[in-house]
Amino acid sequence: MASIPATITSIGDVYMMSERELNHYFVDLHVHIGRDSAGNPVKVSGARDLTFANIAREAATRKGIDIVAVVDCASTGVLRDIEDLLKSGEMEEVPGGGLRYLNRTTVIPGAEVESACPGANAGAHYLSFFPNLAALRQYSHNLSRYVSNMDLSTQRARLSPVELARLAADHGGLFIVAHAFTPHKSLYGTCARRLSDVFGEAARKLVDGIELGLSADTGMADRVGELSNYTFTSNSDAHSLPKIGREYNILRMKAPSFSEVRLALARLDGRRVVANYGLDPRLGKYHLSACRCCGHRFKAWPDTHVCPECGCTGIVRGVADRIHEIADTPEPVHPPHRPPYRYQVPLEFVPGLGPARIGALVDAFGTEMAVLHRAAESEIAAVAGEAIAHRICLAREGRLEIQAGGGGQYGKANKE
Ligand SMILES: [Zn+2]
Ligand SMILES: [Zn+2]
Repeated sequence: MASIPATITSIGDVYMMSERELNHYFVDLHVHIGRDSAGNPVKVSGARDLTFANIAREAATRKGIDIVAVVDCASTGVLRDIEDLLKSGEMEEVPGGGLRYLNRTTVIPGAEVESACPGANAGAHYLSFFPNLAALRQYSHNLSRYVSNMDLSTQRARLSPVELARLAADHGGLFIVAHAFTPHKSLYGTCARRLSDVFGEAARKLVDGIELGLSADTGMADRVGELSNYTFTSNSDAHSLPKIGREYNILRMKAPSFSEVRLALARLDGRRVVANYGLDPRLGKYHLSACRCCGHRFKAWPDTHVCPECGCTGIVRGVADRIHEIADTPEPVHPPHRPPYRYQVPLEFVPGLGPARIGALVDAFGTEMAVLHRAAESEIAAVAGEAIAHRICLAREGRLEIQAGGGGQYGKANKE
């Protein structure tokens, strides 16, 4: 499949493009919370140590992420945690919106909420982001009228997607379609062939951005004509601390704040997304279609409705096949504003690299971003050995051989 050339050069190149007033920031707009600080579950599938405070610390100290948006903040326990962090002075609200931590990372509070597809029982996920605690608290209070359990996140709201988008806007929020193509809980994956089928004529006014999801990239999404007007985001959807920043965006802005993110998504006043960094979509969990009975992964488009291995008809439709189904053009048509999509292979996907050596590399170079993009092969080799250093460099060049994922299983990079 054709896509924008995705050779990683180095983050340094991106910085060189910056102009005097505007800088480039690493931004990850989708991180979950596992527990609140009292140990109560928030996102049940999230890790225990994935608390609001730990996310801010990990993003600031190990990942090197400038802005991280946390999407489970409208939950009761998390609201309390944020209040405590602000009271203790560990975090402070910044004038343009967002909560500043260690003077290094801005945390934007948000909420992932499920809403039913029009006329169907299936639902899709949407992300809303807010400038400050007051707006978030008010949003949470109003949302609680439509959600049964506000202790947990990503709950189904008794609101249509349009009503949900309006609720975010009424509280000064931003609204993004989450993991837009995945076979579970997504607008194109489970709800509709068109954004306008869900949001009507006013779609562009209600939706501030589209999240591509781990199994898709710009080359795939730009085959859907109606998306040419939208800004794409690539975010980690992290359910554990190590996964923060496995996908991210570089935003050109004046400062790392909520209001600047709004301008960048709207592509106003020189602010914009200058690059999306993400997994090679083949590494994503839902790239290929997969059999529910035997797990076999395959291309189901245009006309495979049974598993070619076992004949089972239960198929989890992959993102690649779904995009073939709904595409307007066989090749992507990129609008002039579309930034490049660059592949990166997070350290945990590099074959032979376990937690201990990842830790040693992060300690040696400061952050995972520095290891992935800046450290020289010889420097990496001195810490983790030549084989690993070579693989990290192959990954930078998009030359690692990959077995595509599907049906909930990640793809895999091969050793050689
Ligand atoms: Zn989701
Ligand atoms: Zn099968």
